[in-house]
Amino acid sequence: MTSAIPAYLSQVLERYRTEDGGANADYIPALAQVDSQQLALALVTTEGDIYTAGDDQALFTIQSMSKPFAYGAVLEQLGPEQVANYVGLEPSGEAFNHLSLDEATHLPKNPMINAGALAIHQLIVSPKASSAERVEAVRSFFSALAGRQLSVDYHVYASELETAHRNMAIAHMLKNFGVIEADPYNVVTGYTAQCSLLVTVKDIATMAATLASGGVQPVTGQRLLSPANARMILSVMAASGMYDAAGSWFTDVGIPAKSGVSGGILGAVPGQAGLAVFSPRLDKHGHSVRGVKIASRLAADLNFHVLAPRPVGCGPADIEDQARQLLEQEA
Ligand code: GLU
Repeated sequence: MTSAIPAYLSQVLERYRTEDGGANADYIPALAQVDSQQLALALVTTEGDIYTAGDDQALFTIQSMSKPFAYGAVLEQLGPEQVANYVGLEPSGEAFNHLSLDEATHLPKNPMINAGALAIHQLIVSPKASSAERVEAVRSFFSALAGRQLSVDYHVYASELETAHRNMAIAHMLKNFGVIEADPYNVVTGYTAQCSLLVTVKDIATMAATLASGGVQPVTGQRLLSPANARMILSVMAASGMYDAAGSWFTDVGIPAKSGVSGGILGAVPGQAGLAVFSPRLDKHGHSVRGVKIASRLAADLNFHVLAPRPVGCGPADIEDQARQLLEQEA
């Protein structure tokens, strides 16, 4: 029997194709030039089935959708206790590029905002590593997550660096408070290259499906993150992935997610699937306008909200069984 999923995904895309709200990011000049009509959607199940619709060959820069995976690389490298010395776990309620640190700890509030992502980026390989070594480590890890070799778009990279004064200011603030040891300029160049990796919706949905499956890349079968680290990344995405719109996103869509200013949004439905939407025009929070609407529609249609009642088989009787088993183990 042929799957109904591709036709369903195409139907959803068509429903929102004519929505024309928002505008391309323009603080990165190269992103302002991107064709804003592009629209694509992908869903990859934790069993490795891949479904796409629309402009699924379109390449776009990963931008902040890189942050959960860079965080993952560092969690794998150092473990959560060490990483906690560099970045917090609390939602900031502020814009992605806000110049602030937690008042008590002087650490970035979380790894999804730029301050946290810069602090995380400098830990990749080691603070003493060169920018090129860090970028190659990120590229290689992300390639394993996507299941193909990714490359950096040096045109977008150069364009972002020309106007990266705000990220430079954040990196200097981090250096001032001793959060980063590395040279602030090198951290910004490496982070900007990390954000400039080119992906398709299929790549992003596969990377998200790896989180949804607890760390196993569903197509290659390779374990890339421990189950505990995958869960930690999803938790941080749920609290902070959508920046100052995280609360309304979670209430409505109800899945851990991360957006990027290129117009991509990735979401992970634990145990089920990863999804990715791409549409370049953004709202005031930096999220794809059509992407948010499409994700909301999918979540409603496919019952993705993680706080919806659990399906049959996870009811009160299971608490009874689990408690009994635990007691028996202790006895
Ligand atoms: N490279 C972008 C920046 O640092 C990423 C922001 C985003 O995608 O939200 O400004």
